[in-house]
Amino acid sequence: MNLCDIKTIKQLMAMFSLNFRKEFGQNFLTNVSVVEDIADNCCDDSESTILEIGPGVGSLTRELAVRYKKVISIEIDSGLIPVLKYTLGEFSNVTVINSDVMKVDLSELLAPYFERGKVSVCANLPYYITTPILMKLLESGLPFDYITVMIQSEVADRLCTAPGSKDCGAITSVLNYYGKPERLFRVGAHNFVPSPKVESSVIRIQLHKQKPFIPENEDMFFRTVKAAFEQRRKTLPNALSSSFGELSKEQLTSIVTELGHSPDIRGEKLNVEQFCRLSDNIYHAIASQKQE
Ligand code: SAM
Repeated sequence: MNLCDIKTIKQLMAMFSLNFRKEFGQNFLTNVSVVEDIADNCCDDSESTILEIGPGVGSLTRELAVRYKKVISIEIDSGLIPVLKYTLGEFSNVTVINSDVMKVDLSELLAPYFERGKVSVCANLPYYITTPILMKLLESGLPFDYITVMIQSEVADRLCTAPGSKDCGAITSVLNYYGKPERLFRVGAHNFVPSPKVESSVIRIQLHKQKPFIPENEDMFFRTVKAAFEQRRKTLPNALSSSFGELSKEQLTSIVTELGHSPDIRGEKLNVEQFCRLSDNIYHAIASQKQE
């Protein structure tokens, strides 16, 4: 069965009385070579377990199942579960879970697989929820090898740009804190049914085994990054002073300049290491102020 064939996908949907559900971001891949490329490149160890989010009718799931030891697929749409039983029936190494990935306890689900070996993530993500899913995967602290996802190209531009460049956002710094993102390839809208309005890109994040830069307080690091990007047009001391009411603008300006930056610098210019040092110094200044 060619699950990338538009006719086959439409027949399956009709057979199980289903419609494409826009609210679940259902744009199914129709180009088998794109599906094969994603499966080939999402991981470099065939003994790995792959967590897939949103299998749809199972086109990517099948390609993952023939390449890797185990595939666990989480699908929110209960209507697709009988379809997946039908399309994936021959694969004993696939487990389909009918749930919202945002509600699944990933640590509990994946613990036995991390004990046995490596785990990576591979998904053609529903675009309405790309960032929350990525943040959930990263913040879980689970030692995934790779996270490979298809997302909107516009989001990929932001995620895969170098920290400190003009396109970067808070998420760029956060992502680079956890790992090394790269764009693998672009995928035009005509490769999906129904066609989305935008171009897509497949990106792969190789998670750091050991983070190269570690802040003293992780919450303060995230707070600092968020504050720096919340008002991008402002200088860094001004942007920080809107979010750190505990410190005066003068104190924040000194913290910025003592790190060797100009007081006019914008937050988007900082890389992960510089954000770590900035958040450490803000953390110390707030702590010593509390002691006084
Ligand atoms: N993997 C298939 C493909 O490439 O053709 C389908 C990808 S489609 C872009 C996104 C899939 O994610 C859909 O099957 C949708 O029902 C599912 N989905 C949407 N939100 C979800 C959520 N919160 N948790 C799990 N699956 C979700």
